[in-house]
Amino acid sequence: MIGLGDCEALFSVATESEAAMSTRDEILRANADYAASFGAKSELQIPPARHFTILTCMDARLDPAKYAGLTEGDAHIIRNAGGRASDDAIRSLVISYKLLGTQEWFVIHHTNCGMEFFTDDVMRDLLANSLETAELGPDGFTDVGAGPGSSEAKYIDWLTISDNAQSVTEDVARIRAHPLVPGRIAIYGYIYDVTTGRLIEVPEATTAGHPV
Ligand code: ZN
Repeated sequence: MIGLGDCEALFSVATESEAAMSTRDEILRANADYAASFGAKSELQIPPARHFTILTCMDARLDPAKYAGLTEGDAHIIRNAGGRASDDAIRSLVISYKLLGTQEWFVIHHTNCGMEFFTDDVMRDLLANSLETAELGPDGFTDVGAGPGSSEAKYIDWLTISDNAQSVTEDVARIRAHPLVPGRIAIYGYIYDVTTGRLIEVPEATTAGHPV
């Protein structure tokens, strides 16, 4: 027998699935419009025409195609949380030059990055408590959802950021020093300002990334 509580549960599941469908429908509609005027883009080649790569944060406010004036086929964009030079980002950078001929790389972190608002310990505690989405308040992220969580988070280096000029410089230096990265590639470090849309160079990073 279905009680009132079960009906409420069914209703909330239906509402969530309608919301998911709606996002999917919007994406498919937008894609149909995009494909309808695809034109000469079908002729694009695999190597980026402008021979450069951007490594940047996945933050939804950043759109590299817009802030750097790109169009399809121009450049490689590698994105992750923070735009960090993780082992996997370096894997993509190596493919980017070795197989696809890029010659200049831009590491672009940004102001007000979510990666500044927690540490490895905070993330590990949050995930150990609950897999629900945490809330960001004046004192950082706190769990508002129910458990259980998982202790698996302690095996991941979350690559958080305490100072974005420092993180850009560290990441450029790590890429520069990597044995699979040739000295001829220029690596630049920038911070994108989410309040103005401007790219601000981090001179220490660009110095660290100078071709050698
Ligand atoms: Zn970010």
